[in-house]
Amino acid sequence: MAGRSKEIRLKGSPICAGIAIGKPYLFSFTQENVPEFSIASEEVEEEISRYRRALLRSKNEVQQLKKQLEYEGAWEGAAILDSHLQIMQDPSMTTKIEQEIRLTLKNTESIFQAAIKAYELKFKKITDKVFRERLIDIHDIARRILRYLRESVHITLADVPSNSVVFAHELAPSDTAEANRQSIEAFVTQNGGETSHAAIMAKAKGIPFVASVNFPVLDSVKCNCVIVDGCRGDVILNPTKSTLLKYKQLREQLITQFDTLAQTGNLEAETIDGYKVRLSANVEMFNELDMLHEYGGNGIGLFRSEYLFLTQDSFPSEEEQYHVYCRMVENMRGLPVVIRTFDIGGDKFGKLQRTRGEDNPFLGCRAIRLMLKERETFKSQLRAIVRASAHGDVSILFPMVSGLPELMEAKSVLKEVQEELRRNDFVMADKLKVGCMIEVPSAAITCDALAKECDFLSIGTNDLVGYSLAVDRGNPAMSYLYSPTHPSVIRLIKMIVVEGNRNGIPVTVCGEVAADPRYTSLLLGLGVHELSVASRYLPLVKQAIRYTSIVDASQLAEDILAMATAQEIQEALMRKYEEQPSSLHALARKGNY
Ligand code: PEP
Ligand code: MG
Repeated sequence: MAGRSKEIRLKGSPICAGIAIGKPYLFSFTQENVPEFSIASEEVEEEISRYRRALLRSKNEVQQLKKQLEYEGAWEGAAILDSHLQIMQDPSMTTKIEQEIRLTLKNTESIFQAAIKAYELKFKKITDKVFRERLIDIHDIARRILRYLRESVHITLADVPSNSVVFAHELAPSDTAEANRQSIEAFVTQNGGETSHAAIMAKAKGIPFVASVNFPVLDSVKCNCVIVDGCRGDVILNPTKSTLLKYKQLREQLITQFDTLAQTGNLEAETIDGYKVRLSANVEMFNELDMLHEYGGNGIGLFRSEYLFLTQDSFPSEEEQYHVYCRMVENMRGLPVVIRTFDIGGDKFGKLQRTRGEDNPFLGCRAIRLMLKERETFKSQLRAIVRASAHGDVSILFPMVSGLPELMEAKSVLKEVQEELRRNDFVMADKLKVGCMIEVPSAAITCDALAKECDFLSIGTNDLVGYSLAVDRGNPAMSYLYSPTHPSVIRLIKMIVVEGNRNGIPVTVCGEVAADPRYTSLLLGLGVHELSVASRYLPLVKQAIRYTSIVDASQLAEDILAMATAQEIQEALMRKYEEQPSSLHALARKGNY
């Protein structure tokens, strides 16, 4: 492109507030976009073996599939797979790839991708339609081999160049868990919603994030600089001098506003009329604890234990966990810590679960369901938590409970573990509080029964909204339906609070709505006792609580409970929120500059 590149403005959904300026870095592993990097000459043989292993696994897989189809009498399908096998067995392709790796000293995937592209070109030139349609087979084979190659190489966000704005098709929670805050300025993705676990992790790390952006192939745009506005969902490629200046100033303003808010650390989370709220933190990593203390968090309301281990190859041992939990509990200096047992599954797979393919993982063997199956893993986590309870105020929280039998089974495993440890003279707290997450509609509707068996309830609105409205929380195409203001969700929250009160146990909200000041009055008005939010959002939510009157909030909740649509409720919340000082707005992703 000659001369200065043109400024390009793209729009997406704001996920994590903040303004970033950096250089684009493409991180993805789709068929269209495979990372290319150089390898050392000593690594050549290993790269070649990786290719051979991936090819062999792909061939075995196709052979198995073919046998299955033959057994089922699906001859046409079996014949297609046979042609796939022939292509994979083509010695000229394998030889060429191996030669290229040796010659160019590039990683296998990029060489493989180039070979596939060459194949594609050949096919495109064929005029016969039937033959041309075989292109789809090439794509299928390429996808299969690349999937196996991906498993054998570990491409991480831990070591991207400094000052990078990461562009990706989508990010897995384990990707964001590995992301290095020092070098990553922002994330821009094509997929992923606000409550996806990758987004939660980005928020924990304070990395501005804009999702649902339809970005061009960056290679075709000469782009050295990009601005990401995570407050409004703007992404600007090749900004002009004046745009750059404007955003540098905005970034300074935002930092100053946040610093001012952050000084509320020693103030109480208390409404204007003296109603005290427990304001705790959702924690995924150790380095959030300093912030929690600095901003005066009342404890850890939700420790997502699985995040510490998402990037490992196997479940951690009891001892490993015991040390992690003790360190966390001791660091909390007597403040309560709620440890949630592993919530693996859904979009949280990491390396632990790579092989567990399910068609619909969000409705599959996730969280407590998985732990009740993997009994030894569950018991070793419970043992580690029970032992850590000797060092501070620890509670256990079970995720994704869908009804009383699951809760009772989990409690009975816990009891078994406690008795075993007692028999072996381990020290532990006399009483360990047990909580149940309410994030499945069936649990919300039967929470009268669950509340009788628990010491506290914790509402996971991220999942509760998704499961109530039958909307995938990470699917941008459906995000217009993913609405925490849907009357069904508000009424469920009210029901849960009423049952909590009837049974004399507190109710926490720990989903992302708790961190959004637009919802603070409503949640307090509905009678929620505790809010648990990412540490970074403690000052913002504390300020929102301090601007709320509990009398007004109760009236607001009553009015809202009588409303019939998400839209009506959203408008009522916005009217209430706009009474608060505008300094909160930009930080709450409502920047009006
Ligand atoms: C929730 O679902 O609201 C919740 C807090 O759990 P997670 O986001 O980890 O699924
Ligand atoms: Mg959840």
